[in-house]
This record gives sequence, structure tokens and C-alpha cells, in this order.
Amino acid sequence: MMKILNISTECYPAAKAGGLGDVVGALPIYLNKLDCEASVIIPKYSTDWMVSKKWKKKSQFELESGNNTYQITIFILNDTSFPYDLYAVDIPTLFDRKSIYLDENGKGYKDEAERNVVFQLSVLTWLCRLKYKFDVLHCHDHMSGLIPFLIDHSQVFSRLKKTPTLFTIHNGQYQGIFNWSKSELLPAYEPSARGLLEWDGKINSLACAIKCSWMVSTVSPSYMKELKENFGSLTSLIRHESSKCIGILNGIDTSVWNPKTDSLLPITFKTEISRFKIDNKKELSSKLNIGSNKVWISFIGRLAYEKGADLLAPAIDQLLTKKREIIFVLLGSGDENVAIALKQLEIKYPKNISVTIAYNEALSHQIYAASDFLMMPSRFEPCGLNQMYAMRYGTIPIVNHTGGLIDTVPDIDFDGNGFDYTPNNVEKLCQVIIRAVSFTKNKEDMEKLRQKIVALDFSWEKSAQEYKNIYQNLIILSNHAS
Ligand code: ADP
Repeated sequence: MMKILNISTECYPAAKAGGLGDVVGALPIYLNKLDCEASVIIPKYSTDWMVSKKWKKKSQFELESGNNTYQITIFILNDTSFPYDLYAVDIPTLFDRKSIYLDENGKGYKDEAERNVVFQLSVLTWLCRLKYKFDVLHCHDHMSGLIPFLIDHSQVFSRLKKTPTLFTIHNGQYQGIFNWSKSELLPAYEPSARGLLEWDGKINSLACAIKCSWMVSTVSPSYMKELKENFGSLTSLIRHESSKCIGILNGIDTSVWNPKTDSLLPITFKTEISRFKIDNKKELSSKLNIGSNKVWISFIGRLAYEKGADLLAPAIDQLLTKKREIIFVLLGSGDENVAIALKQLEIKYPKNISVTIAYNEALSHQIYAASDFLMMPSRFEPCGLNQMYAMRYGTIPIVNHTGGLIDTVPDIDFDGNGFDYTPNNVEKLCQVIIRAVSFTKNKEDMEKLRQKIVALDFSWEKSAQEYKNIYQNLIILSNHAS
């Protein structure tokens, strides 16, 4: 049975800041159903979930990086009901924090380079001390992007040489770029390999991963295509490495996102989708103090430029000056200016907007269940999970034509699943919302579309098989190499 280790900084339900956590949390479950032995290693944070669990010590060692010495402990989750081996790296001072990436002001931690490097060195040091070997190391995003380089070019980790690596880009916007002064955090490496760490005069963890890993994947085929067309200064690199690149669409964990059993919902799905929507809308309308007799259009996500969150306030304002038949239900956290603009709109149109500035897992489930539409004006969307969750709960997506949204939400005019628009600006967003609202007037079409989308299959089975095929090919390659 092949042994796969996922190396990540998020894993639902232990620690999640976005889609990365969902994917790393679910993929091993589905791989193990395909006779793999997949496990996950993440940093040990002080999230409620991680603090509340019992952990068993597996290994303990000292690690030097820069001028500091760290006391590292590797734990394994001591819970037989958990579906796979979950390891956690305890690095006091760097990771014993509640929030995964952001400080109390919502800004990225200043010691990001130290955190990322020490986490990766800890994982590699532990792997070198193990009696057995993992067959493939699956690294996720730039936070584990230096691992393929360190395996190949640092004598310290020579025991791991020839271990195949797959690097998955969940979000190419974040690249782990550091000044060369941070190279002192790394152990000695072959001087001739220095160029592999570099892009545009700095250390670039994502670029380094693209150069050094055995295979590179993105979380949807369209996103891979887009990166090859325009990945900023990395376009030439990804084109150059094209032969080892592939796009695999994320699945969703249909056991967590199941409207029939979801314990976070006040009312679960019985037999009729329209009943399920009406009942959940009623429940949530009294909780949020808004009406239930209008069309609900929601947004759930990070209030970030890449999510097009800055388009929301102007579009909503423009629509509500003319049309009052819509209620906007918004849940998100992030950019403070966007949050303020939305909160001001809530004061201006109290009957037509509900804005919750927070990260709230339960509320997100309730909004997916209660809404008529979910809008995603994303500028980039490597895969996007929200649209798939929405459809599973009978909520019709309204999406900008980009990345994974292209792969999952063809427009209803092309026999698709939702409303698709482009280019992505306030005018077009308003137009597509008006098109969606007028669609609700025909109850029969609305019902048909809801029934169609709840029945779509976005489960992990197919994608997990694609990952397994990649692992198998990598193992064959490594056998030839040794
Ligand atoms: P990204 O990883 O780029 O943020 P994805 O669409 O891949 O976007 O994943 C977003 C995940 O995070 C979804 O599970 C979504 O429901 C969840 N999410 C985002 N913001 C919030 C929030 N404020 N409250 C609850 N869940 C949220």
C-alpha cells in the first residue's frame, strides 16, 4: 500500500483558513478508500480543535535555524475515530497561536519566513529519523514549497533523496517571497543550486517548488491553463515546466457538506428541495432579522481583492437604489475598507442587507442552505469550493468566468448550472444579478434548476483517483531513478 504524506499548514477540522484546509482535510479520506495510506502533517496551532484533542508524542528533537534553536515535538492525534493519521509539529513561539496566518490587526504575521522554514525543516528532520519511508511527499502551497529543493540539494536531508514530490498550487497569488537575508534560516545546501531558490532577485518559495518538485498540480484544469497564459513574472517558468504540470479539480467532502445530515442546519433536507430552502430561509431570516419574502443573494468568503470583494458594495448600492426585491446576505472577513463599506450599506438599507464580519462556519452552512443565489465575483479562483457547496444546498451560483468557476458553473444559457458573466466589473455584476432575479419569476424553471444542481456529483472519488494515478507514476519513476 502506498504511503503518502500531505505536508500543509491547514487541515480541516484541525485548522482551516480557506479552501486549502478543506482539501487537505478531505483528500486523505478518499485516497484511503482507494487503498492508499495517506496521512497529513501540519503545525500544532492553538486552535480550539487542536487544544481540545489528545495527542501522543512521536518524536522530539532540537532544530537550529538562523540564530535560534527550537525544541520540536512531533505529535500524532490520539483519536481512533479520526479517519487518517494526523501529525502535528509543535514549535513553541512560532505556531502556538490561535490564528493561522493573521495577527490581531488582520495583517500577515511578520515572522512568516521563520515560521515556514522552521516548519519545513522540522518535517524533513522527522522524516529522516523515521524507520520507514513515505513513498510520496505531497506538498501544498508555498508554505511547503522549499521541501523538494531541500531534499535534493541539502546534504542534511540526503536520506530522503529520490523521494518523489508532488506540489499542488491552491493559490498562486501567495508565493512566499523573502529577501536573500532570510537564506540564513536554511541549512547548508549545494552552492551551485542557489539559483533554484531565486526568482526576480529574491527567494521565491513557489517558484522554487515549480522548479524542483517532480510534478506540479493546480486545483482545476482551467486554472492551470490560465497560469500558463498569465502567471505574472512566473509565466515563463510554468510554461517551461509545462510537461510536469496538470490540473485536477477539487472535490468536496460530501459527508461534511450533506444537506440531509448537516448538524449545523436548523432544518435538514427531507424530500423536497423547495421546502428545504423555504424552511431554512425562514429560520435564518429571524436569526438575522431580515425578511424571508424576497430573493436572497449571498456572498461568503474572504474580503479580498482576488475574491472581487471590493465590487460588492458599489454593485449592491447601485442595485438597491432601483430594486428593493433583493436581500443581500454577506459573511466574510478580511479587508477593513471593504468591511466598512458593507457595514455602511447595511445602515443605509437595513431591510435589504445583512452583513456579518466574522469567520463563522455554522453561519456559512446556514447561508448556503437558505439563499437563492450565491455570488462569486472572484478575479481569480484556482478552484473555488463555495460554488460547489452552494449547489449541493440548492443555491444557484452567480460567478465571474474564471479558473475553477469555468469548470464547475457553465451558464444556464448553455444548459449549465448557474449564471456566468465577464468581464468582471460593477456594471456586469449588476446586469447578471438582474438576469438572475428575473429568472426567479418562472417558478418552474427555478425548481428545475435547483433539482439539477443538488443532484450534481462533485465528490472526491474521481479526483482522488487522479491523484492516486500521479502518485503511482511518481513511484515508478523513483524506482527507475534508484
Ligand atoms: P479560498 O481558499 O480562496 O478562501 P475557497 O472557495 O477555496 O476559497 O474556500 C473557501 C472556504 O472557506 C469555504 O469552505 C467557505 O465556506 C469558507 N469561508 C470563507 N470565508 C468564510 C467565513 N467568513 N465564514 C465561514 N466560512 C468561510
